[in-house]
Amino acid sequence: MDKIYNILKKTFGYEEFREHQKEIIKTVLNKKNVIAIMPTGSGKSLCYQIPALIFDGLTIVVSPLISLMKDQVLQLKANGIEAIFLNSTLSLEEYSYNVNSLLNKEIKLLYVAPETLIQERTINILKQIKIDLIAVDEAHCISEWGHDFRPEYRKLTDFRKQFPLATTIALTATATPQVQKDIAKNLNIPEAKTFLSSFNRKNLILEVIPKTDAFSQTIEFIQKFKNQSGLIYCFSRKQVDSVASDLQDLGYSALPYHAGLTSLEREKNQEAFIKDEVKIIVATIAFGMGINKPDVRFVLHHDLPKNIESYYQQIGRAGRDGIDSHCRLLFSYGDTAKIKYFLKEKEEKERFKSLQLLEALVNFCESEVCRRIPLLKYFGEEYKEENCGKCDICLSENIQKQDITIEAQKFLSCIKRTNESFGANYIINILRGSKDKNVLNRNHNKLSTYGIGMDLSKKQWQHLSRQLIRKGVMELGEYNILKLNNKSWEILRGRKTLFGTLFEEKSKMPVTQNIAYDSELFDILRKIRKELAEEENVPPYIIFGDKTLIDISVFYPQSKDSLMKMSGLGEHKIKKYGKLLLDVIRNYCVEKDIEDISFKKISQKKIPSSSGKRHLEVGRKFNSGISIQELCEEYKVKEQTILNHLYKYKLAGNNLLQTIEVDLPNEDIHKIEETFSQLGTERFKPVFEKFQGKYSYDILRKIYLNKKG
Ligand code: ADP
Ligand code: ZN
Repeated sequence: MDKIYNILKKTFGYEEFREHQKEIIKTVLNKKNVIAIMPTGSGKSLCYQIPALIFDGLTIVVSPLISLMKDQVLQLKANGIEAIFLNSTLSLEEYSYNVNSLLNKEIKLLYVAPETLIQERTINILKQIKIDLIAVDEAHCISEWGHDFRPEYRKLTDFRKQFPLATTIALTATATPQVQKDIAKNLNIPEAKTFLSSFNRKNLILEVIPKTDAFSQTIEFIQKFKNQSGLIYCFSRKQVDSVASDLQDLGYSALPYHAGLTSLEREKNQEAFIKDEVKIIVATIAFGMGINKPDVRFVLHHDLPKNIESYYQQIGRAGRDGIDSHCRLLFSYGDTAKIKYFLKEKEEKERFKSLQLLEALVNFCESEVCRRIPLLKYFGEEYKEENCGKCDICLSENIQKQDITIEAQKFLSCIKRTNESFGANYIINILRGSKDKNVLNRNHNKLSTYGIGMDLSKKQWQHLSRQLIRKGVMELGEYNILKLNNKSWEILRGRKTLFGTLFEEKSKMPVTQNIAYDSELFDILRKIRKELAEEENVPPYIIFGDKTLIDISVFYPQSKDSLMKMSGLGEHKIKKYGKLLLDVIRNYCVEKDIEDISFKKISQKKIPSSSGKRHLEVGRKFNSGISIQELCEEYKVKEQTILNHLYKYKLAGNNLLQTIEVDLPNEDIHKIEETFSQLGTERFKPVFEKFQGKYSYDILRKIYLNKKG
């Protein structure tokens, strides 16, 4: 136990383990196989790196992407750990050098591409060495259900057979149960202990704002991130090129990235970004695979992504280092129309599916509850916090809502009087008594609603109009024409009161980091980091992470002992850069008369939460005869939460001993069971979609839970 804390501190420079890390490490050290499903940035690598340092044999890390492999090896070496990789990019000389160091047992971790691993010559080399651990990174590549299936991953099972004494740990950030099951099956580790983390990325600030003038909104946003790295995602290559060049014209450090560039250009732009030579990448979805840059501070969606999965993946590139990072999406109904237009070319079935996925994303954008609720729900997770404190909805919670019924009535009745044939801006023109040609030509200045809305600005009316759509009291038809519905009539007839806001929509989001640090010192350190990185020809984040520099800029460590307390500084880095850092910090502090306050840095020991094991507790209680209703009362949660626990319990390989009542005719239940047998029980979505949403996920979950085996 002490040993793993010792390594955490001395080698990696961290104080505490994150969720699941310690348990996983202990399981691996007990030579039990593990499947770890944890989101990006949660610290999966440490889960096999620390055991690798404790085992006396070798740890093999299978990784699908050369860029990721290189990055990991650089990071390990920067902490003084002997690691190498074998792949097709090595020269003959490098290859044999690496093989020699392997045979001489100088190496703790070997990173290798699957196709290299299964070659006979590799196996022959490895047969001469003791292998203690095989870590399969990006393990979803083994599944056809995953987003990047790699057939070579399937051969890993045979490989494992040849090294029966090695423990296996499979790691992925892919959430779907189907993929999880595929990993266990295809790696032939059915008995593996599975660790499943929440997919909530706590440090991401989530925000959706209406798109009005995308380019000025872009500028307004990125201005807040001086000297910081970020991504801007656009819909098309053309859009990327135009945004990137407009930004360059204004003097911003930005480069484009899309599939229309030559591979050389793409590589060059990506490299410049990773090395902090350019701050912003404007990109299509083509950008991101194999990028490990931990200090991406913002992701701006200039255009709407196609679905929640893409959105989650793209915002996921922000804040891997755990520091707060800002994700803003510019939302317009025009963009949904654009995506729909492009979907027209697709085949019927695929189009239907894509439309559903798009709709889920639009629901997320229109959400009136915490953004994390619809986002995590998409991945089958229930978000239970009252207020996440890091999304636009939760942050605006405190803003008083007012009665907007009268304004809504004015707006809706104007739609009615113009026969439901115009868009919002035209309606607003009438309400505000505009002298616009079209209004006059159509005699709309004679309407009773003409000029009754002068008390509000155009922007306020637009804001109101968006609220009315969001609240479902009017509909947006084709060509953005507004239509009335039943709810509109309830409002018009005064049967319903509506609450909302009337002021202009301004972002209420925090944009600066919530840690107060000395930005002057931070900038000095950042410059030095850049110089060191250039000398060593590695990305700056390999030298020090932002977290390290922020820690220093908060605590002003002026002795070696104090420096040791800063996050990410292990013994190796202290030895290598300690003196240089201390010189810089001391100089700065003498000049400004600042004291070392690192004694204030207490380790942020967290009280271990029981939530990780709650499903076991709930499962056992259920099996002892306690009803779901009773469990809800006992834990003071909704039925859905209990079902979720039971689901996890079952997923972990346990049987359920009670049958859950399902409120459906037997006939329907049979139909659903049959569909489950056809489509598999690993994912509920295909079944949900097969019935076009007729049966809720809760019902499907119950039927699944009732299934034996
Ligand atoms: P993942 O592979 O899950 O995306 P990484 O293993 O790359 O995540 O870790 C993300 C970042 O968090 C890295 O910079 C890593 O060094 C850091 N990290 C991992 N574990 C800890 C910890 N216990 N304390 C502080 N930082 C950590
Ligand atoms: Zn929230």
